[in-house]
Amino acid sequence: MSFPQCRGKSNRMNLTKAYDVTPVAHVMLLPGQKFEGCCEVIETECYTFSYANKSDPNDVGLFHVGKHCADDFINFSGKEAPPLFNPLTSIGARVPRVPGIPGIGGVNQLCALNKEIYEAISILTLAWGPPKAPLQKFLTYLSTYPSTSMSDSDVQHLNNIIGKVTGRTLTGIIAQLGQGLPNLRTFNFPRVGIILAAHAKPNNF
Ligand SMILES: [Zn+2]
Repeated sequence: MSFPQCRGKSNRMNLTKAYDVTPVAHVMLLPGQKFEGCCEVIETECYTFSYANKSDPNDVGLFHVGKHCADDFINFSGKEAPPLFNPLTSIGARVPRVPGIPGIGGVNQLCALNKEIYEAISILTLAWGPPKAPLQKFLTYLSTYPSTSMSDSDVQHLNNIIGKVTGRTLTGIIAQLGQGLPNLRTFNFPRVGIILAAHAKPNNF
């Protein structure tokens, strides 16, 4: 089952009673980029939540919302917002209420490897749209164990997903996203590279 329609404050409050709801990703979208959210068009900031139905352990998944809806779920669940991924080095006039801090801010202390993974998944969000089920386990891991490096096998699994879905490297995806966007940050994934090299895997990052 997918997550129920979440329009309305009291509706969201009831949903946080019936579901365990956890914010797992927070991405600033590219200028003009829009995604379809559960109850509103997602502009500027895209939040991804994981959910688990408290009365049905098989009913789990992800849903995606804009800032307005996300603020309610974060407040009602009492959970911490994930770090904001900002792909740009500077912020245009379109998004004045977001602080102009490049990169990942916020309180979650992602270790260096996990920060590379979080950035990679955030870039995939910009390229593919909000994260889908195959990426859930990585996002859940990062939000649960931000400061404990993801396992080599999970890094290889994500590497496989990137290669299989795109047939391109993440660096190639970034180059395409950066066309016409001179203030797109540069991204490096040195720790991922070391792990893939140690296992003699092709590097899709
Ligand atoms: Zn919503």
